[in-house]
Amino acid sequence: MPRNQQIILDNRPQGEATASNFKLLSSDTPALAEGQVLVRHHYLSLDPYMRGRMNDAKSYAAPQPLGQVMQGGTAGEVVESRSPKFQVGDKVVGMGGWQEYSVVNVEPPGALRKVDTTHVPLSHYLGAVGMPGVTAWYGLVKIIEPHPGQTLVVSAATGAVGSAFGVLAKVRGCRAVGIAGGPDKCKYAVEELGFDACIDYKQHKDAASLSKALKEACPDGIDGYFENVGGMVLDAVLPCMNDFGHIALCGMIAGYDGQPLPLAYPALILTNRLKVQGFIVSEHMEVWPQALQELGTLVATGKLRPRESVAQGIAAAPEAFLGLLKGKNFGKQLVKLV
Ligand code: NDP
Repeated sequence: MPRNQQIILDNRPQGEATASNFKLLSSDTPALAEGQVLVRHHYLSLDPYMRGRMNDAKSYAAPQPLGQVMQGGTAGEVVESRSPKFQVGDKVVGMGGWQEYSVVNVEPPGALRKVDTTHVPLSHYLGAVGMPGVTAWYGLVKIIEPHPGQTLVVSAATGAVGSAFGVLAKVRGCRAVGIAGGPDKCKYAVEELGFDACIDYKQHKDAASLSKALKEACPDGIDGYFENVGGMVLDAVLPCMNDFGHIALCGMIAGYDGQPLPLAYPALILTNRLKVQGFIVSEHMEVWPQALQELGTLVATGKLRPRESVAQGIAAAPEAFLGLLKGKNFGKQLVKLV
């Protein structure tokens, strides 16, 4: 059986996460029992939610246990099988974690999913045609409930979730305006993703200045906002919201290190009669087939061309993850192992 390099959570962060929170180990993969398969991971998915799970705090998901392989989505290939359900060579996605191989018990359905890589590259099943894509779809379709002609805004617009959101909003006939960090990301949002406009929040020293830029990019106001960031960005968006607007509260990455993110004018939720709803995509498995169908078609037909930031090799995972939390990624952050 092959050697397996793994990254475990060694200790919990105090404030900002650092590379010293992780440790690289190596072990033999165990022999397979009946009903198990061995998956060689081609890609690991790095996602902001992992930062929350590094803390030992009450949340919607249990904390990442110390001393165990960092949990996370993986895409790879079956290299050995003791189950009739999977053949050697099958391309699969699962939750194999930050390691080169995983042994998966495939008897309970759902632990591993076969994917078709004819028209959709394997890596995209961790991004646009995977959990992040479905996240964008759910917030847009089920919470924002868009109508053609409406103006919709998304923060972290060029990331895994934001980029899918922009394309899904455009195909529904909406005006899509992104907020992203830096001129290159904003250029890409407009030229490649099809956003009508994109605002570089880093050019604005405070929420009032960002809000002014948003008003110019959204002359009819904002009907729907998809929040990935929080803090100054949310403070800038709220005054631009139209009456009865909808806000899908998906993420608050600006506060993932634990610092408070106060809201400057919460009364705007009342005066503008806004609907603000948080959600966790894994609690809405009923929409995944429909969402993945649409996202898969958009990618296969070239209407959604997601960008990826790809780190090389398992040892690069911690630094790539820390970079993701600081916006160093440009598109879906992955680690390539094969
Ligand atoms: P991204 O690919 O968008 O990467 C994160 C991005 O966040 C960075 O590239 C950076 O973009 C931006 N960012 C980081 N720090 C800050 C900051 N302080 N202020 C403003 N922007 C910042 O990640 P994902 O697409 O995977 O995730 C996007 C959001 O969606 C996250 O908040 C995540 O937690 C959330 N999420 C929630 C889910 C749910 O079920 N509710 C499921 C999946 C994701 P930039 O350079 O443009 O600032």
